[in-house]
Amino acid sequence: MATTLTDRLSRLVKTMRGQARITESNVQDMLREVRMALLEADVALPVVKDFIARVKDKALGQEVVGSLNPGQVLVSVVHKELAATMGEGVADINLNTQPPAIILMAGLQGAGKTTTTAKLAKLLIEKRKKKVLTVSADVYRPAAIEQLKTVTGQAGAEWFPSAPDQKPRDIALAALDYAKKHYFDVLLVDTAGRLAIDEALMAEIRELHAALNPVETLFVVDAMQGQDAINTAKAFKEALPLTGVVLTKLDGDSRGGAALSVRQITGAPIKFAGVSEKIDGLEVFDAERHAGRVLG
Ligand code: GDP
Repeated sequence: MATTLTDRLSRLVKTMRGQARITESNVQDMLREVRMALLEADVALPVVKDFIARVKDKALGQEVVGSLNPGQVLVSVVHKELAATMGEGVADINLNTQPPAIILMAGLQGAGKTTTTAKLAKLLIEKRKKKVLTVSADVYRPAAIEQLKTVTGQAGAEWFPSAPDQKPRDIALAALDYAKKHYFDVLLVDTAGRLAIDEALMAEIRELHAALNPVETLFVVDAMQGQDAINTAKAFKEALPLTGVVLTKLDGDSRGGAALSVRQITGAPIKFAGVSEKIDGLEVFDAERHAGRVLG
């Protein structure tokens, strides 16, 4: 089992009992343990460095009161800062526009875009009583179009057909036209992904964004992606004005440090967490709970 931050620090602080304050001299060793814990949780290195610097500023001068020891005080500072960073921003989905509200799904292949599109459709139908249309602009993988059709059916939403010989932009505009004519509240646009960042793919999704002007552009990222999440997040942030993040596969055994990396790099709020392969496995992201998981 991985060592938790509390375990790591409690070993250290045995030598620090009776110290009334977190000072420059006692904080260094403790911060080294925080750094190790975050790296173990797969937070990307540059993000860890930045985070540690902020925590140090907040921790210095903190009084150690009652039965607490300096390690416990520091864990609490780290936990609070982690939850605040990951929880910043509006977590709710924004449909505040002239219908249909367009939601563009972006991310690498395998991140969980298609699954999340259907999960989101189901959530909007059941919780917000919306009429939802989905469409796939993935013209490279006919199987992806079929997959969206199947999961959209499971979600109880309507699916707009598309085919590999069409242009993604034409598909999206045809779906938008249909959505307007049939009074849909929401149009969810699933897009093509690649296994790695690819300039052609980014150009295509930028073009889709420009044609659709979506109210939400959600970056879907696999929580198991670990250190690499930072590069993916950077590329999508540069290509698109992201409005939110969906962190998938949180039911896996990763500590989910990617949440901190992606939040910091994109600047966009983490809105949802994917917690199973099933159609109802989407939850509003809970930063407080997730901070506990990252710290172990
Ligand atoms: P896409 O290529 O981005 O559209 O990814 P898919 O939606 O096809 O998902 C890729 C795989 O990840 C599929 O096997 C999904 O069932 C699985 N998946 C997606 N989201 C989750 C999740 O939150 N938890 C788990 N366990 N699996 C997920």
